[in-house]
Amino acid sequence: MKTAIYPGSFDPITKGHLDVLHTGCEIFDKVIIAVAKNSEKKGFLTIDERVELIRETIKDLPNAEVDCFEGLTIEYAKKRGAQILLRGLRAVSDFEYEMQLSQANSALASEIKTVFLITKPKYNFISSSTIKEIFLNGGDVSKFVPEAVNQYLIKCNKL
Ligand code: ADP
Repeated sequence: MKTAIYPGSFDPITKGHLDVLHTGCEIFDKVIIAVAKNSEKKGFLTIDERVELIRETIKDLPNAEVDCFEGLTIEYAKKRGAQILLRGLRAVSDFEYEMQLSQANSALASEIKTVFLITKPKYNFISSSTIKEIFLNGGDVSKFVPEAVNQYLIKCNKL
């Protein structure tokens, strides 16, 4: 049984994240999207909001689940019995940070391997911070985020 943890801020989850998740679900037996509670980034949505929106978005993916965690990702992975950390790569700009992170994790727990997936070109430019910027300036983000996220942002008037 191959279990992967897909850790991140997911503030909010985007179609780019979802593309990586779908491919991960084809490769691994189970993928756990894990919302990190200890991110240094200032939150736009609360952890509970992010988790609920992910839950709604993945409800038709039988081998995906959502959770949140605090502390080191590798400790959480061990606790969940996962062997893999799943991360997405967009541009070269992601590479250096992601390489450093995966090597640090590997130095801490060499039995847990990081696997990188590259998103479809149409999702390449999407980041949660770009979505926030567009939304907070009154733009339409429906093409970039799952429907549940789009509806929630409009309904909750997060402006
Ligand atoms: P973090 O704060 O850990 O970077 P994010 O939610 O921003 O959390 O991203 C989580 C993971 O998803 C990271 O590996 C990131 O590179 C990846 N990711 C984010 N957006 C995309 C996208 N559009 N396509 C592919 N991977 C993405």
